[in-house]
Amino acid sequence: MKNIRNFSIIAHIDHGKSTLADRIIQECGAVSERELTKQMMDTMDIEKERGITIKAQSVRLDYVKDGEHYILNLIDTPGHVDFSYEVSKSLASSDGALLIVDAAQGVEAQTIANVYLAMDNNLELIPVINKIDLPAADPIKVAEEIETSIGIDATDAVLVSAKTGVGIRELIDAIVERIPAPSGDPKATTKAIIYDSWFDPYLGALALVRVFDGEIKKNQLVKLMSNNEEHQVLDLMYPHPLKRQKTNAIKSGEIGIVVLGLKDVSIVNVGDTITDAKNPTAEPALKYEPAKPFVFAGLYPIDTDKFEELRDALNKLKLNDSSLSYEPETSIALGFGFRVGFLGMLHMEVIKERLEREFDLDLIATAPSVVYHVYLTNGDMVEVQNPSELPSVSQIEKIEEPYVKATVITPSEYLGNVITLLISKRGMQDKMTYLNEDRVMLEYSLPMNEIVVDFYDKLKSISKGYASFDYEPIDFKEGNLVKLDVKVAGEVVDALSIIVPITSAESRGRALVKNMKEIIPRQLFEVAVQASIGSRVIARETVKSMGKNVTAKCYGGDITRKRKLLEKQKEGKKRMKSIGKVNLPQEAFMSVLKMD
Ligand code: GDP
Ligand code: MG
Repeated sequence: MKNIRNFSIIAHIDHGKSTLADRIIQECGAVSERELTKQMMDTMDIEKERGITIKAQSVRLDYVKDGEHYILNLIDTPGHVDFSYEVSKSLASSDGALLIVDAAQGVEAQTIANVYLAMDNNLELIPVINKIDLPAADPIKVAEEIETSIGIDATDAVLVSAKTGVGIRELIDAIVERIPAPSGDPKATTKAIIYDSWFDPYLGALALVRVFDGEIKKNQLVKLMSNNEEHQVLDLMYPHPLKRQKTNAIKSGEIGIVVLGLKDVSIVNVGDTITDAKNPTAEPALKYEPAKPFVFAGLYPIDTDKFEELRDALNKLKLNDSSLSYEPETSIALGFGFRVGFLGMLHMEVIKERLEREFDLDLIATAPSVVYHVYLTNGDMVEVQNPSELPSVSQIEKIEEPYVKATVITPSEYLGNVITLLISKRGMQDKMTYLNEDRVMLEYSLPMNEIVVDFYDKLKSISKGYASFDYEPIDFKEGNLVKLDVKVAGEVVDALSIIVPITSAESRGRALVKNMKEIIPRQLFEVAVQASIGSRVIARETVKSMGKNVTAKCYGGDITRKRKLLEKQKEGKKRMKSIGKVNLPQEAFMSVLKMD
């Protein structure tokens, strides 16, 4: 055990986490140069395309230093905040972490958020300044930023280039010297935490574990403490991106993959503790709390016949992503679909994209919503994830909405813009820190609802792309909120309802109908678009009628031209939903997001 090192890599996106992981793997000789296909650690297609890591990957490596043989267990964490539940379990399984910061970019918002998670787990942090090969690299300035923002000593930061390989050997030596060996009782009964799980088409549900006490043995009857499921261990392996190695036992301090022969991955919960079924440990390694979805949206097939296909597709995705939750939902406007819960905005985009791409489904997504705690006059509390389901005003005592702690790092020249934006999003300043004369770190509390509604894009545009942002959900606070409904041709379109602060309801209503007016294609008749609170109409626009039938132009003329035109219209209809007599394109459902 004294020669094992368990460590994670944490970083802001694009600071080089995956490249560095590949480089460490290569340096330890676990794969040859030829096998080192670019970005080995990012395996999913979407991950490769977007350059993000969604599923954590781990690898067990051998390393010899001064004649001593070491086992290095590298845990690649997903960098994005949406996946902070997984990040925190990976960190709980580690004894130290490499904190990667880009030498040209400096500390960014995700760097800070990840450090907070690492500190919660009392991890030994090794600051690593990457990309020192870049002409714009300024390692001294970056080391100072690390000290100012995080308050850790960065004088012994390791300087590396994951691209050229400079400093990698020194880094591995630092891992061996500075990260503590695992502690734990090898003689106690089995206690291991599941820090990742997924479905393998050949082996079934797999659990990636870190063993704290005792060991997990082949054929052992083990128990999953969150659900009391008991299963036999069919096989055990050490993780490796190319060739997993089988073993008869995963011992105290080690990480490994447990094969339980289960068809259903939802039994194998990330964050759960595995123990011996006959002689269970008294306390779990971690208190188990399931991953909580924070953002909800309705997903509806454009073609109503595809409802069952959408259900199958969601089922399949859920096999590999237990954080995905969904239940059937009906909308008067959109028909049959699902209300789907996501960990955050990126998670939502990735799922929607996979449904469309891998399962060939055309979907309409409603505007994302957060979860509201609605206290009723009869004393009950209901959780509302779908704005159209908000009880009527007379039944409501008060509404509480979720808040986040947001970290923004910006060049000081955009500070004014950024603060103005944060205030317009109902933000309250907790802290402002100058990292140096040209960069500032802001910490704000603000309603989560304000960041699911085009916050990130705005932040990027007012800072010419330079400000970075990260957040962490904190608690619920009372808000003065109302439901804003949209009527098209006199009918309320339930899928367009949103919950907004009362103070901005009118301006949002006006902006919304104006937007809708631009988006709704002209019909044969005039269409009224109204925004209302209860029965009170607060804004109204009219979509003028088309005048003449488009096909009329072709009368008596060229028949192929007419057919082409009809085909084109059919094509256009693909992403439309008819509301009464009016066809609404997908943009209409997202227009509630774009407020000005
Ligand atoms: P991640 O998002 O933290 O996993 O970052 P990646 O490993 O995907 O790297 C982001 C980008 O930075 C990629 O284009 C890499 O090729 C590049 N990169 C990573 N390390 C270095 C480095 O040391 N020097 C230079 N010049 N580029 C690097
Ligand atoms: Mg990556």
